[in-house]
Amino acid sequence: MSDVRNVIIIGSGPAGYTAALYTARASLKPLVFEGAVTAGGALMNTTEVENFPGFRDGIMGPDLMDNMRAQAERFGAELVPDDVVAVDLTGEIKTVTDTAGTVHRAKAVIVTTGSQHRKLGLPREDELSGRGVSWCATCDGFFFKDQDIAVVGGGDTAMEEATFLSRFAKSVTIIHRRDTLRASKAMQERAFADPKINFVWDSEVAELHGENKLSGLTLRNLKTGETSESPVTGLFIAIGHDPRTELFKGQLELDDEGYLQVESPSTRTNITGVFAAGDVVDHTYRQAITAAGTGCSAALDAERHLAALS
Ligand code: FAD
Repeated sequence: MSDVRNVIIIGSGPAGYTAALYTARASLKPLVFEGAVTAGGALMNTTEVENFPGFRDGIMGPDLMDNMRAQAERFGAELVPDDVVAVDLTGEIKTVTDTAGTVHRAKAVIVTTGSQHRKLGLPREDELSGRGVSWCATCDGFFFKDQDIAVVGGGDTAMEEATFLSRFAKSVTIIHRRDTLRASKAMQERAFADPKINFVWDSEVAELHGENKLSGLTLRNLKTGETSESPVTGLFIAIGHDPRTELFKGQLELDDEGYLQVESPSTRTNITGVFAAGDVVDHTYRQAITAAGTGCSAALDAERHLAALS
């Protein structure tokens, strides 16, 4: 059993590293569990990030995360490339267990475990991520000016992404597994009324083509089994996200979709001394800058909590 720390941070995306930077600069010596295989978070899987303020010419996702990591480390954050496999957050002293079974104790815990975008499960999906395949129209729409692109999905997010993308793209094809949409009536009507948007019903993406960049799709009609080619250069996958909250079930309050609930605009969860920030809380914005912003808020909330204890 280790000494009692001030604060443990679980997760190492923009939210986790920002919380680490702020708590480290407040001399709280945070211990950060970065994750065993995915240290650095979602931006490790992308190429150019053009919308993080301060980088006029853009920056590669992994470089941005290396910078954030080094900045937190410079002020004394202790970074561990390991997963947390169990937590007990209920008492005044919280415990966090790593993969070796070591139990770490702290007076405050900040949860920044992010959310996982759902994938299609196709062989070349990861390889083409950031190279034509995307999960975020706000992030990447601008790269697809005057191109033919496709969106997979039938819910509100898919309709929102498609109508946003039609501002830039030459055409947007929505590919949906069924012949009706799940999206709200208002969102559907906006998409149907958009002259740049067309629909391929009862179909799924069967194959992704292209060497270093997406050059087209093979589509399969699920009713007839027939396949067809779609020569799009962009594919936006909008079939949902799964917040990484399994560890916290039964302790922290989750909403219907599994996101952690906080007393917004603070980052306080239902348990005193436990704070949450970034995409694990956020249904709506899901941007690196918003994750970093709430990571800062969580650090300041944790600092105040610790100050009140002493
Ligand atoms: P994440 O970045 O998801 O990080 C969570 C971290 O927690 C991960 O490292 C994970 O390993 C770790 N973790 C989870 N569980 C545990 C555990 N049990 N123990 C230890 N660690 C754990 N946003 C933009 O603003 N601009 C862009 O251009 C942009 N491009 C994107 C491109 C792609 C391909 C994707 C997927 C997303 C993109 N985004 C972009 C969105 C942005 O990446 C996210 O909004 C942001 O990373 C969320 O930050 P986060 O810190 O909340 O979570």
